[in-house]
Amino acid sequence: MEIYRRALDGLKEQGMLRTLRRIAGAQGPRVEFDGKNVLLLCSNNYLGLANHPALVEASCEATSRYGVGSGASRLVSGSMDLHFELEERIAAFKSTEAALVFNSGYAANTGILQGLVGPGDVVFSDELNHASIIDGCRLSGARIVVYPHRDTASLEILLKTEMPRRKGHFLIVTDGVFSMDGDAAPLEALAELKERYEALLMVDDAHGTGVLGATGRGTGELFGCLDRIDLHMGTLGKALGSFGAYLAGSRVVVDTLINRSRSFIFSTSLPPGVLAASLAAIDLVDSAEGARRRRALEENRKVFSERLLAGGMDLFGSTSQIVPVMTGEPGPTMQAAERLLDAGIFIQGIRPPTVPAGSCRLRATLMADHQPDELRQAADLILEVLDNRAQ
Ligand SMILES: *Cc1c(COP(=O)(O)O)cnc(C)c1O
Repeated sequence: MEIYRRALDGLKEQGMLRTLRRIAGAQGPRVEFDGKNVLLLCSNNYLGLANHPALVEASCEATSRYGVGSGASRLVSGSMDLHFELEERIAAFKSTEAALVFNSGYAANTGILQGLVGPGDVVFSDELNHASIIDGCRLSGARIVVYPHRDTASLEILLKTEMPRRKGHFLIVTDGVFSMDGDAAPLEALAELKERYEALLMVDDAHGTGVLGATGRGTGELFGCLDRIDLHMGTLGKALGSFGAYLAGSRVVVDTLINRSRSFIFSTSLPPGVLAASLAAIDLVDSAEGARRRRALEENRKVFSERLLAGGMDLFGSTSQIVPVMTGEPGPTMQAAERLLDAGIFIQGIRPPTVPAGSCRLRATLMADHQPDELRQAADLILEVLDNRAQ
């Protein structure tokens, strides 16, 4: 145990130790932290659905009717009506033949990549892709070619280089909206490339689903190329306020995953209450209220990021509700986060290995039910704290 203790002490000295913080109450726009009411700027509950009465009610009703647990893996005895209903609803939502629900986004990415590619195949992966994609690539045993962030010209060169020795699949995988930078993938250009080089295109839309596009179909809808994505991965635990994840795509892909995806096969399936909440969430995203919530979120994004840009901050080119503010080194970043917490704003400082060294940041995530005024004040406080730090 001593060896772990020393490693933890080392992390602490470098300002890199991670600890858990306890909050009280639901994931609303404000939460209680150490008995104090603070503005929550680090939840992915973008549309405010995590504690929405429609989801809570659907979840309670399904739990009363079907019980708490699903009892087993889907392939054993755990495939319930609600699993199939949710998958049909997701396939309709994304206009695909079929969909498969996974227990989390992490389980989905590792299971999809491991299930669809292997030795002899090549995965082309954006350098800023989420950790679960990186782990899925590693688990698959495929050759991994990492391309510079959003750089489709470099990606094309890499695709060309791999062509002569091609033996199996090419798969291009990208976040739709990048989780630490808040910028979007160049999906049209990626779709061009996947067509030119006969590759599959997989988009992880954990942060776009429910939020982006006129009807919340995600980053693909925003760029008008939803139907050119082969593998739509998305999560149910962020904007949709519930829990779990999915792959939407062709029937043959879903059947392949049912047979090969280890995170799907060897894990107890999602419980009824969670499935019912996800169904209610998709109904909400599709409703007039969903549209209203998306508009409020977009308005909040503008208010908050324009204020910070006017104050001279580097926001990493964010175009979404994820708004990172460049701070540089770990020490000052975590001090700024602490000072903001004292001032009533709960925002996370992000350090390596989550982001490259020297690009630490305060990462704000916005919600539809934040008030524009409280976001303006928060932006001013961030500017003030970061200004003081520079002196
Ligand atoms: C959060 C996230 C995941 C993981 O999803 P969970 O359901 O939280 O496991 C995967 N990919 C991206 C881009 C994410 O932001």
